[in-house]
Amino acid sequence: MQMPQPWVLYGPHESALPLVLDSPHSGRWFPADFGSVLDETALRSAEDCFVDELVHPATGRGIALLAAQVSRVYLDVNRLADDIDPELLDAPWPDASPPSRKARLGKALAWRTLDDGRPVYARRLGVAELRGRIERCHTPYHRTLQGLLDAAHARFGRVLHLNCHSMNAVAGASGEGGAGRARPDFVLGDRDGSTCDPALTEFVRATLAAMGYEVTVNDPFKGVALVQLYSNPAAGRHSLQLEINKRLYMDEATVQPHAGFAPLQRDLMRLIDALVDGWGATS
Ligand SMILES: [Zn+2]
Repeated sequence: MQMPQPWVLYGPHESALPLVLDSPHSGRWFPADFGSVLDETALRSAEDCFVDELVHPATGRGIALLAAQVSRVYLDVNRLADDIDPELLDAPWPDASPPSRKARLGKALAWRTLDDGRPVYARRLGVAELRGRIERCHTPYHRTLQGLLDAAHARFGRVLHLNCHSMNAVAGASGEGGAGRARPDFVLGDRDGSTCDPALTEFVRATLAAMGYEVTVNDPFKGVALVQLYSNPAAGRHSLQLEINKRLYMDEATVQPHAGFAPLQRDLMRLIDALVDGWGATS
């Protein structure tokens, strides 16, 4: 089967409001050259399942939504382009930098292990193989996101990038926050106040808390490459990572949405509308 576009853009090609959404980890496409030893259910444990569908109603407000289509285990676009894991490769990467913390956890650009420690491959990847994944998946995703954010910023003088994710209800062996730790309903990440105006982060936190949700900030998820690369709060460029607990909307064992999906989707739209009214109003 032909590999689809590694990302899809829902809604307008330019946001009609100073908000842009992206969902880098809800892709469920496993390319033919993946060569993983794990089955689809195991690989989907790493996926932010249905997050693109959860926030899709925002496109009806004129907000652009960029979503990855390829599995993040194959190539994780929420990593810096040089986040190479040498233990996954069959030869040294040219001009390699020291392995990042994510690489040491087996979760660099291409994942070596799942959160529970299971190896993804019974082989090592070639340098050209990984380079091809970066060029096909990572580069165009970043170029498209940056274009959406630049266009909104040029039009409104400010932009909020809501980087949307979900998290397993309980951390696995290599999960952030420590093995076995139960996660709150939402975790907001602004890399300790460096990617988003703290007042805007607090507005989102308070809006969700007022709906009855338990919300933490930067604990245990602070945000990774996508909020880091394109934010500059002093220049009106804000990026905030939103982690949603999977237990609110899906059954992790069957990988199916449950009855909580629609109410959560409505609450997320209440959050979007609060942001539009409270921060994004154009006049
Ligand atoms: Zn994610």
